[in-house]
Amino acid sequence: MPKARLTDLAVFGGTPAFGEPLHVGRPNLGDKDRFLARLNDLWDRRWLTNNGRYVRELEEKLTAFLAVKHCIPVCNATVAMELVIRALGLTGEVIVPSFTFIATAHALQWQEITPVFCDVERGTHNLSPRQVRRMITPRTSGIIGVHVWGRPCDVEALQAIAQEHNLKVLYDAAHAFGCTCQGQMIGHFGEAEVFSFHATKFFNTFEGGAVATNNDELAAKIRLMKNFGFQGYDNVIYIGTNGKMTEAAAAMGLTGLESLEAFISVNRRNYLAYRSCLAGIPGLCLVTYDERERHNFQYIVLELDDTVASLNRDELVTVLHAENVLARRYFFPGCHRMEPYRSLFPHAGLVLPETELLAARVLSLPNGTSVDEPDIERLCGIIRLALANGPEIRRELLAGKRQAGKYAAEA
Ligand SMILES: *Cc1c(COP(=O)(O)O)cnc(C)c1O
Repeated sequence: MPKARLTDLAVFGGTPAFGEPLHVGRPNLGDKDRFLARLNDLWDRRWLTNNGRYVRELEEKLTAFLAVKHCIPVCNATVAMELVIRALGLTGEVIVPSFTFIATAHALQWQEITPVFCDVERGTHNLSPRQVRRMITPRTSGIIGVHVWGRPCDVEALQAIAQEHNLKVLYDAAHAFGCTCQGQMIGHFGEAEVFSFHATKFFNTFEGGAVATNNDELAAKIRLMKNFGFQGYDNVIYIGTNGKMTEAAAAMGLTGLESLEAFISVNRRNYLAYRSCLAGIPGLCLVTYDERERHNFQYIVLELDDTVASLNRDELVTVLHAENVLARRYFFPGCHRMEPYRSLFPHAGLVLPETELLAARVLSLPNGTSVDEPDIERLCGIIRLALANGPEIRRELLAGKRQAGKYAAEA
């Protein structure tokens, strides 16, 4: 039954619309039998990690899929980024957006390189090349662009700035596996691009990631560094770490790759359903994907402008959580407002007005193969009902806050 009246809403005591929570980032799963057959096989072969057959096969398939020279599987994207940063010899300061997942900044700070937070463009949610120029100092050694939601950065402008100032560019492409930029697969840009294959991402290997690059020398370094610096038995020629992907993870990846087109078509169907169900609501804007590019459509992202809409983002999130729709605030509150950066750079927000605005307005809704069109229609009906009755809902939420603990987890 679609919710029609205000009192149907769970914040007013109605039954939650969904019996089971609807999550953002529920894993996309391929064929279970194919995966289990691979597990059986690796069990029988007793080869669990250390560049085994499945990791090598995954590497081959990823490299071919992206049509890059190298796509090196790594245990996760954070370690992959640390490897690239180190292999490129970045030092001093590196310019990054604050509107990203915290790992982008941590991968630098972990190696005592200062992340210099740069503002993004309101329209694209990606690094603003104009602002990047303003953040360059004599200590700057590089730029990390993030293809937020899988929508590509302005790679041409960033490359031009890098050339002019002798900087290295790399990309956090955690969201962008299977996406293109001007028809070219993401994976080809900058010195290297790093994908995440974490469980919540479009394509997963439980935990995992990969470094894509067309630079042979960089690839050789990363291959050494992810395996403690070993070159053959007993011969260590470089400082390294343990960034290896396991065989079980690679088996998951190989299985997922076989369903990649199915994942995309479900995501796209869902995206189109959201787009039509949410059209024309004042103050509410869905992040859209350029039809001329390839896309994974993994992220359903809304911007709620509370100077126009009757509720703010946090209030809408509270309404949705009560209905068992676990919408997420992204990237809230922004890296510069999290430790250690908040203490290190207490005034960073002054030059990040667009970041602060987006961090207050953006929410992400469930997508992926665990969500279907009827779910989306019901979910969007709740959003529509809530935004049509903002003042009453706001009053109810304020009253609820005064009661012990009601909605306390929220906002
Ligand atoms: C998920 C994510 C990461 C981290 O990836 P892991 O594989 O979990 O280490 C980094 N950057 C962005 C933008 C992400 O979304």
